[in-house]
Amino acid sequence: MSATDAQLNSDWDAIVIGSGMGGLVTATQLAAKGAQVLVLERYLIPGGSAGYFERNGYRFDVGASMIFGFGEEGTTNLLTRALAAVNMKMETLPDPVQIHYHLPNDLEVKVHRDYEKFLQELSDRFPHEKQGIRRFYDECWQIFNCLNAMELLSLEEPRYLTRVFFQHPFACLGLVKYLPQNVGDIARRHISDPELLKFIDMECYCWSVVPASQTPAINGGMVFSDRHYGGINYPKGGVGQIAQKLADGLEKAGSRIEYKARVTEIIIENNKAVGVKLANGKEYRAQRIVSNATRWDTFEKLLPKVNMPKSEQKWQNRYQKSPSFLSIHLGVQADLLPPDTECHHILLENWDNMTDEQGTIFVSIPTLLDPSLAPEGCHIIHTFTPSWISEWQNLSPSEYEAKKEQAAAQLIQRLEAIFPGIEAKLDYQEIGTPRTHRRFLGRDDGTYGPIPQRKLLGLLGMPFNRTAIKNLYCVGDSTFPGQGLNAVAFSGFACAHRIKVDLGL
Ligand SMILES: Cc1cc2nc3c(=O)[nH]c(=O)nc-3n(C[C@H](O)[C@H](O)[C@H](O)COP(=O)(O)OP(=O)(O)OC[C@H]3O[C@@H](n4cnc5c(N)ncnc54)[C@H](O)[C@@H]3O)c2cc1C
Repeated sequence: MSATDAQLNSDWDAIVIGSGMGGLVTATQLAAKGAQVLVLERYLIPGGSAGYFERNGYRFDVGASMIFGFGEEGTTNLLTRALAAVNMKMETLPDPVQIHYHLPNDLEVKVHRDYEKFLQELSDRFPHEKQGIRRFYDECWQIFNCLNAMELLSLEEPRYLTRVFFQHPFACLGLVKYLPQNVGDIARRHISDPELLKFIDMECYCWSVVPASQTPAINGGMVFSDRHYGGINYPKGGVGQIAQKLADGLEKAGSRIEYKARVTEIIIENNKAVGVKLANGKEYRAQRIVSNATRWDTFEKLLPKVNMPKSEQKWQNRYQKSPSFLSIHLGVQADLLPPDTECHHILLENWDNMTDEQGTIFVSIPTLLDPSLAPEGCHIIHTFTPSWISEWQNLSPSEYEAKKEQAAAQLIQRLEAIFPGIEAKLDYQEIGTPRTHRRFLGRDDGTYGPIPQRKLLGLLGMPFNRTAIKNLYCVGDSTFPGQGLNAVAFSGFACAHRIKVDLGL
């Protein structure tokens, strides 16, 4: 059946709601196997949190800009692999430093791509913990080496699990051991200096938005090692190019993506998901339905909240929505930045504020790697800080505008610590709040994703792709293994694998 016939008959192998990285990887993996897939995206372009927007000659990344998964070797380079599956490739620009931390008590640390250089820099600051530092990060490598030895597919597929176990028994046993652990468990086995433990908390918080004690060890192993293995690589032309290329590859493989197609309902018949209804009244049917919306959006908005399956209620008791972000997209004059400025920075003035509303500040300057994203003589500074939607509700339009301006001015004032004179060098400014994230990304409360309600057993509580509703799957950051582009790509590979087996492809 061709894509056009399938559309006319409203009868697809799979419908994917949303073209975030999780949805696109699922769709392209299925399309590459010959499945007819329809992706329905409510916005104008693909990518979701990995999308972009253009203003006054600047191309801003909406969110993600520190990109893992573009390595050339091993099995964890999932973005490289996802693109290759639909005959696509991206030119990327290697980032020599993952993060330049500016932390309390003048703790200045750069996470160099070169592992030994990073360990040396950290050990110079904490010489009494030199051995512990190496043992901690080396143990994270053990986790990564287990993951990087095996093909990463659906853990819900018993035949795959058996095959992978016989091919890589030691790697599998290694992963089983770490699955219920958190990074904090490992850190405390090797490190005792309280300030260094706080640094490890920040190493986790800056991508998991929870301290080390609540960050799964598997995710920590990936992040703390892959940054030195495949490295951090910025896609030329901006992060939005990744989704655009996947969408192009999807269509070239004979499937279809529709924009401005907001799904309002997942149609259930005889307790099975059979189709979707759009805001414009159109209905499409498919053998399998995949939701790339968050689990809160899926089970409270696209399905009636009153019928929420018990397993979802239990999940909501274990995980809560993380805060969203206050984001400022700045264009600045290039001479603001000294020549040795790094692309990504984290700024925190007081350890007690790390997890607070607008506590930790994140900074990305992608134009240091790809100057084509800004007008000549200018740079982009994207800065963001966690913020709860509750801070931004019940305000009149003028109160909302005033609060935005005030919050942005405070954030820029704090950035003076790393970019002295920034205020005088501003060329462009656009402010986004949790309300902006909710509106443009279609994410409940603008959340960055699920975080544990309390200390959990590592990743054991994160659901895979199948749901309690037959033929309905979830993909993206509210499924195993969580947030981040490479992580949701993993979830996309796993989801497509499970569906391929279920459809007999
Ligand atoms: C500010 C910020 C900075 C970040 N920085 C990084 C980083 O540096 N590195 C990194 O790896 N990760 C980063 N992340 C996280 C990363 O971007 C996300 O984890 C990832 O992109 C989430 O992908 P997803 O597929 O789960 O969903 P999303 O990106 O949320 O995509 C879901 C898609 O579904 C669409 N959709 C939702 N509901 C419907 C509906 N009803 N009908 C039709 N379409 C619908 C949405 O419009 C969206 O396009 C960052 C995130 C943010 C917000």
